[in-house]
Amino acid sequence: MPHARIILHVDMDAFFAAVEQRDRPELRGKPVIVGGTGRRGVVSTCSYEARTFGVRSAMPTFKARDLCPHGVFVAPRMDAYVAASRTIMEVFDRYSPLVEPLSLDEAFLDMTGSERLFGTPHAMGEQVRAAVVEAVGLTASVGVASTKFVAKVASDMNKPNGLTECPRGAEKAFLAPLPIERIWGVGRKAAERLHGMGLSRIGDVAAYPVEILEQRLGGFGRHIWSLANGIDVREVSNTRERKSVGAERTLAQTSVGREAVRHRLLPLADEVAATLRAKQVRAWGVRLKLKYADFRLITRDLRLDAPVHDAERLLSAIDELLERADVSLPMRLVGLAAFDLTDAEQPRQASLFGPAPERREDLEQALDAVRERFGGATVVRASWLGTPSAKAHDFGPDEDS
Ligand SMILES: [Mg+2]
Repeated sequence: MPHARIILHVDMDAFFAAVEQRDRPELRGKPVIVGGTGRRGVVSTCSYEARTFGVRSAMPTFKARDLCPHGVFVAPRMDAYVAASRTIMEVFDRYSPLVEPLSLDEAFLDMTGSERLFGTPHAMGEQVRAAVVEAVGLTASVGVASTKFVAKVASDMNKPNGLTECPRGAEKAFLAPLPIERIWGVGRKAAERLHGMGLSRIGDVAAYPVEILEQRLGGFGRHIWSLANGIDVREVSNTRERKSVGAERTLAQTSVGREAVRHRLLPLADEVAATLRAKQVRAWGVRLKLKYADFRLITRDLRLDAPVHDAERLLSAIDELLERADVSLPMRLVGLAAFDLTDAEQPRQASLFGPAPERREDLEQALDAVRERFGGATVVRASWLGTPSAKAHDFGPDEDS
């Protein structure tokens, strides 16, 4: 057996809503729904109390109001979440030199070789969980396993405030009874195809001939077969240069036209910018991603003259990229990614165009401050009607997301 790894996946519980309940004790025990409070707003995160009424992330806010009329609807305070995220990531750094954040509220920690320091894998998970609660007053759920995929699946099994360990060697049996939708990268479309092949559990995929999966689904077929069999060689990676930060949203109804797309991208830009700031990195590149109703996917990249980590400049890049994309066709998914990341502390290259970056950052920070003071719904950019709901994540080879 190759060098066996110990990987933790730590995921905060109902993160945005939990921050609100922490900061406003009167909200504890109540159904708290964080999201766009406007007419076209979308639920970003909701507390577990709200979930019992059927409220879910990415649901239109008006629907959440129908399901949970006495819920407390709160506009997001991104800067409060970014501050909590930074503290959480600092806790992770105390436990492992190899931390890979996936978004503001979740990360992989490679704990391989730290048994002498922290004890059994289970004990490692418990210590990290306790340290997070102590540092930020918020609970996390932890998955402990020998691969990233299994750790990620495990962290979700006993939410909230739970720890689930998959013992080494038990990966296949651990995954087998779970629905195929739990496989990383399997979206609605891929799930439909797998169901059409008679596969509904991860164990079904594991037992299926890999050659046929590959014939039907290409490289993605082999990929999910490997994951289903507990094989996942991907390393926990904290190398920032090669990574990107992205957010995307599947549209409930196909949209047409530049303004419709731009409207969807505005909250995503805020989320990506917040993640960049939380990771203390800036991006030299911005990518626009559009998926059309016929599932054709296009991307457009732009190189910037100075690295950015603010929503305003991400948006101006997106405006340029939208000029180079066909937005006259119906679209079912929009996304943006920031790539070619660099440490935020690095000296900035002077820009020949537009106001100095420092000025724009001041503006962004002032906007953050006003938003915090009055709530996100009060101070919004003119065309901003929604709020973030998509999770920032690394753009991967997702077949369907
Ligand atoms: Mg979470």
